[in-house]
Amino acid sequence: MHSTVAANDFLLKYLLAFWQFYLRSFGILEIFMESNKANLTFSFQQETLRKEVAEGLLFTHGRLSENTKLTVEAGSFLYGLIEILIEKGILTLEEIDDRQLQVAERLVKKNKERGIGILLQEPEHDKYKFNSTSEIDCESRVSLCKASCCRLPFALSKQDIREGVVHWDLGQPYIIAQGKDGYCCHLMGKSRQCSIRQHRPVPCRAYDCSKDQTIWLDFEERIINPEILQEEWPRNATKNQERG
Ligand code: SF4
Ligand code: SF4
Repeated sequence: MHSTVAANDFLLKYLLAFWQFYLRSFGILEIFMESNKANLTFSFQQETLRKEVAEGLLFTHGRLSENTKLTVEAGSFLYGLIEILIEKGILTLEEIDDRQLQVAERLVKKNKERGIGILLQEPEHDKYKFNSTSEIDCESRVSLCKASCCRLPFALSKQDIREGVVHWDLGQPYIIAQGKDGYCCHLMGKSRQCSIRQHRPVPCRAYDCSKDQTIWLDFEERIINPEILQEEWPRNATKNQERG
């Protein structure tokens, strides 16, 4: 009898120890799986970022190369012309130097005002003070329009860029970033709602689709333009369309 109780006691302890070991191993496994998942997400994000940076650099270098070619071409033409004019005694070198300084100052100012080489909203408004006149019940229409307005490209403002919430296309500064499906990257999948509503740019606040026939053939009658159902829209729209 005594030996049976001892054997039961031993078996119980053995089972308990085994159970604790099992639970611990399972916990460790879970932690391992979680960290593995986090690592995978992190490396995926890194890969996406790397691709975006590479695309941005490609754009920048491509533009630089094109600009260099044009500058060399324009420079050789100009210097050739100046040499002929000096040789013919029509101009002096001093006159050209003097005028060149004045023109350079004018051009630098002009380019600065225009933000040459990139696309930015002009004129710029403070989006948090912007009063929109557009009142559209998107919720009751989105099943028809498929939120097509969020496929229209537009340039961001300096305010958007500095704030860092709205993503822009690194390959095409500073146009809103769009996914492979052509929709703005901030539009949420099935719900078709804006994930950054509080921070959305001015063109999203100002846009009035009721006047846009590339989306609604008849806004009041809720008749959509069938073109929006095509994958290539709005690139193939009868009228070149963008939010602005
Ligand atoms: S297309 Fe018009 S109705 Fe549809 S989501 Fe955009 S603004 Fe709203
Ligand atoms: S920021 Fe929001 S409202 Fe504007 S295009 Fe993107 S999803 Fe649409």
